Amino acid sequence: MSMAYSTKKIPHDEHRRIAKHTKPGNPLVLPDWHRAVVEGRPYFSKGANDGRWAGRLLISGENQRKLGKKVTKGKWKDAPIFALTLEERATCPRDCDLWNSCYGNRMPWSIRHHIDDEKLFQLANELSDLQHKHWRTGFVIRLHVLGDFFSAEYVEFWRRCLKTFPGLRVFGYTARWHDEIGMCLAAVIRENWDRFAVRSSGAKMDVPASRVVDRVEDRGDGIICPVQTERAACCATCGLCWHSKRDIVFLRH
Ligand code: SF4
Repeated sequence: MSMAYSTKKIPHDEHRRIAKHTKPGNPLVLPDWHRAVVEGRPYFSKGANDGRWAGRLLISGENQRKLGKKVTKGKWKDAPIFALTLEERATCPRDCDLWNSCYGNRMPWSIRHHIDDEKLFQLANELSDLQHKHWRTGFVIRLHVLGDFFSAEYVEFWRRCLKTFPGLRVFGYTARWHDEIGMCLAAVIRENWDRFAVRSSGAKMDVPASRVVDRVEDRGDGIICPVQTERAACCATCGLCWHSKRDIVFLRH
């Protein structure tokens, strides 16, 4: 399906509770000696989120300024969006290009989940609930606002969920590539791209990619994320990440 994307600026919309974005170009780069960098954990302690977790792992995109509540156009039109946030660095590969400058360093209020067997069971139950509630439109899960696929078993969990829940659509980005997790993931992406649009950060796998650059001029053949150039309000009103196979390029933020 071909889609026309407007190049004119559009105003913020009613899809999100929080519309203010962090301007790109100002990452918090931690030094190599910082404990979060050495120990491989978030910059912000879990204590910052104590008492804020309402019990669900999948949170409506309405609560994420970048995501939005419901897809407004294209092949996933009308599907509500939900997000899962994990612990950055703790779930990521050490060779991630953004290990020190992860944008989670500027996200003190994100509620990060540690996924153990019990939480995986809960996640499956929440996906089942969404399948029952949104079987007409389908539903979209943004993996992972922070964090990454942390084991081959976890990748297999998502592969099985794609088979079990026909309404499930996924989009996101991964820094995995050369380890067992990356290889499992690449296979799932290739087999299910229409419903599992997970991009390879840094274009390291042979699947659609995302890249981070410092200047718009460095985008090459890629498309700069329209939210960062204020040509789209949020993912719900954009959808390029799951429609285009061209590189999606993010300005460092
Ligand atoms: S390109 Fe579109 S869908 Fe992708 S992250 Fe940016 S706003 Fe979201």
